[in-house]
Amino acid sequence: MRLTVLGASGTYPRPGGATNGFLLQERGINLVLKLGNGCLSNLLEEIDFTGIDAVVVTHMHIDHFGDLYPLFYALRFDPDEPWGMRLIMPGGGLELMGRILGEDSRAYLPLVFASEPIAAGRVYRVAEMELSFYPTDHPVEGYSVRLAGEGWTMAYSSDSSPCPGLEEAASGVDLFVCEATLPADYVEEASHGHLTSLQAGETAARAGARRLLLTHIWPAFDKQDILEEVREVFGGEVALAREGMVIQLGGGEDQT
Ligand SMILES: [Zn+2]
Ligand SMILES: [Zn+2]
Repeated sequence: MRLTVLGASGTYPRPGGATNGFLLQERGINLVLKLGNGCLSNLLEEIDFTGIDAVVVTHMHIDHFGDLYPLFYALRFDPDEPWGMRLIMPGGGLELMGRILGEDSRAYLPLVFASEPIAAGRVYRVAEMELSFYPTDHPVEGYSVRLAGEGWTMAYSSDSSPCPGLEEAASGVDLFVCEATLPADYVEEASHGHLTSLQAGETAARAGARRLLLTHIWPAFDKQDILEEVREVFGGEVALAREGMVIQLGGGEDQT
């Protein structure tokens, strides 16, 4: 499986640094895991938007779904009407998106996107890939996701304070993509729905994740400092997610 980082900035984009999104490709199937602000442009460097098989949004915060709006318009006005794109998201997500659209556009939302509500404990399949979701500790409904394909497993934390679901999702995975929004001494701030560097590293260590990719670092903080803090508590391979980075799971070579 080829994982491409479309964006990794926490909360708001930086120059050349879109917010959160990943493209997973296996055997011609294209799964988009979140599409934050700036991600669609990077996605289109890889594939055409009509080639997306499914989009997963783990919670309804704009830095994780903002570019669903331009994707919606691209699909809505495409002459071939490639509608009914599979969109796995928290229940009511499409209605929430519709609130800022005019009446006409709102009517097309459920035609362009075939939305499926996330339910913890249910297994979702996108071709050969299996996805399961675990509730997070965040101000809105959200889920960590565990993904498995042929010869690989990975997990993505979504946004969350430490909670049992994070560790369950990441248990023994080949790759844990985990938010590390804040430096180690921002414990109070992190308690409102995020992880510090140390909490991210400790979660990955307890879960037995083999490899750790740090994402969603608040743009104001030094990423390298956060990486060093994580290394204090996580002994496995750890790296910072960067736009355009490619990681191969289940065979193949990484490109960074
Ligand atoms: Zn976020
Ligand atoms: Zn969030």
